[in-house]
Amino acid sequence: MQRKIFSEEHEQFREAYRRFLEREVLPYREQWRAAGFVPRDMFKKMGEQGFLMTWAPEEFGGLGLRDFCFQQIMIEEDAQYGEVGFFHTVHSRLIGPYLQHVGSPEQQARFIPKCVSGENILAIAMTEPDAGSDVAGIKTRAVRDGDDWLLNGSKTYISNGIQADLIIVAAKTDAENPRKIGLFVVEAGMDGFARGRNLSKLGLKAQDTAELFFNNVRIPAKNVLGDPSKGMHYLMQGLVEERLIAACISLAAAQRAFDVTRNYVSERQVFGQSLSHMQNTRFKMAGLRAELNALQVFVDYCVTAHNDGELTVSQAAEAKLLTSELEGRMVDEGVQLHGGAGYMTEYEICNLYANARVARILAGSSEIMKEIIARNVFDA
Ligand SMILES: Cc1cc2nc3c(=O)[nH]c(=O)nc-3n(C[C@H](O)[C@H](O)[C@H](O)COP(=O)(O)OP(=O)(O)OC[C@H]3O[C@@H](n4cnc5c(N)ncnc54)[C@H](O)[C@@H]3O)c2cc1C
Repeated sequence: MQRKIFSEEHEQFREAYRRFLEREVLPYREQWRAAGFVPRDMFKKMGEQGFLMTWAPEEFGGLGLRDFCFQQIMIEEDAQYGEVGFFHTVHSRLIGPYLQHVGSPEQQARFIPKCVSGENILAIAMTEPDAGSDVAGIKTRAVRDGDDWLLNGSKTYISNGIQADLIIVAAKTDAENPRKIGLFVVEAGMDGFARGRNLSKLGLKAQDTAELFFNNVRIPAKNVLGDPSKGMHYLMQGLVEERLIAACISLAAAQRAFDVTRNYVSERQVFGQSLSHMQNTRFKMAGLRAELNALQVFVDYCVTAHNDGELTVSQAAEAKLLTSELEGRMVDEGVQLHGGAGYMTEYEICNLYANARVARILAGSSEIMKEIIARNVFDA
């Protein structure tokens, strides 16, 4: 399908990024999956090429490219030629913007340049063993102590958690009001901060996903982001882009699963003929092709609307819901059409199947997306 949102400049960027992936990522991804993390060096290599936090102002070393299409292109190329467990998009677009939008000029100047260069890796820690979807249910607390804050609690499932240098931690700041949450920048090496296990996961094997512990970690006032009672508000502001990112990732992964499956069924012979000649295969793939194209149009619309500052919370939730559900169906049909090969880890569809399951859970589960959309349907 001919897409309408990319310019010549975008296509040149896509070419350059694809070459980078073919050189620096593709040959190593099996090694990273076995190790359970992507070497920190990769963040620096991305930074050197200008691929991290492309939106960041030039004074901080960024390219000043606010256009989301550039990130969408990286997400699409990652699915085809890269390693989706390398969470540079989470670093660049999901966490980095909090430093710019909520951080003071001093914090921006102190934190952003090393995140653009890849010297510092970012993580965000909201989820706890007893609170995920319900952020207001977190138990981690920050209590004022003079000009500082003392942070206590634990977090889990934190992406980039093993390697992160800067972690934005959400913590309650008012014992009386559960919605009063602050965002605190914890730096690697602070006393009382410890990392737990690199959690073993069904998929995304190259991504380090950690437990984090905070025991009387002293946070200086200069590491508090914005107003320490308005963290919930700041987090909500970031959710539209977070869900758009998730939608782009799911759709790109579904597209990859489609390509891999089409190639397989075109080569596989069953009962003396190509699997691609069987009506069941053709109808399944035709239906999926139609769904992928329809959602690509919707996602491209959402990207344009986001660039124009017009993407709504509900539209972003719709995109995330539909793409992650389609990804789930696509990888499942893909495995089925591969037969036994689809269950073998040496076939890419097996990896795509394992990676896909989390898409309906993280960045807000499908049920939470439906809650948000329903609010717009009935209460708006
Ligand atoms: C690989 C991975 C990486 C992650 N990375 C991060 C990270 O970097 N930082 C971070 O903070 N978190 C991260 N998370 C956590 C993720 O955001 C949570 O897992 C997610 O928000 C769901 O929360 P939960 O696991 O506590 O499930 P729960 O909230 O306990 O949900 C369990 C079930 O209940 C359903 N449910 C919950 N509320 C409702 C409702 N109101 N109505 C209907 N059904 C409901 C859910 O949809 C789900 O099906 C990550 C998770 C994974 C798996």
